[in-house]
Amino acid sequence: MKNFLRTSFMSLTRNEALARGVAAQFCLLFDPTVEELSDVRTAVSEAVTNAVIHGYGASGGTVEMELYADGDLLTVVVSDKGRGIEDIELARRPFYTSRPEAERSGMGFAVMEAFMDSVEVESEVGKGTTVTMKKRLGAHE
Ligand code: ATP
Ligand code: MG
Repeated sequence: MKNFLRTSFMSLTRNEALARGVAAQFCLLFDPTVEELSDVRTAVSEAVTNAVIHGYGASGGTVEMELYADGDLLTVVVSDKGRGIEDIELARRPFYTSRPEAERSGMGFAVMEAFMDSVEVESEVGKGTTVTMKKRLGAHE
């Protein structure tokens, strides 16, 4: 059976650091490199920040983060039941942001892609968004 850890937390900006820390702690099970650990932290931070800021915004809600370990494969699933994304392809484009006034750079998805092996986005307007990221860890030379 795959090892897993599932968490739910309130959509507060300050919980982003908590989620990032939990994900990093889970990764230690893989005996990761320092770089891998940092990559996962960064990607989780972007996904959770998106759920908090774009998914729920001021209305607030519950963010879920699930972590799975299957051999050397880490899977992180970050989901919200917030506003959803109308055009996923557009949203994933580097430099695209729906909130330029909030000093967002539109690089969140690009960062997730750069630091993880794969990033999958599922979303429905009014229902929420699920981001699934995978990465192989602990592959020391
Ligand atoms: P940055 O991450 O650089 O601060 P950003 O958050 O706008 O800026 P991305 O993370 O790449 O950039 O996200 C692109 C766009 O996708 C967002 O502007 C937002 O419109 C939409 N988006 C991303 N995640 C969600 C989500 N969980 N719920 C609703 N919309 C989202
Ligand atoms: Mg973002």
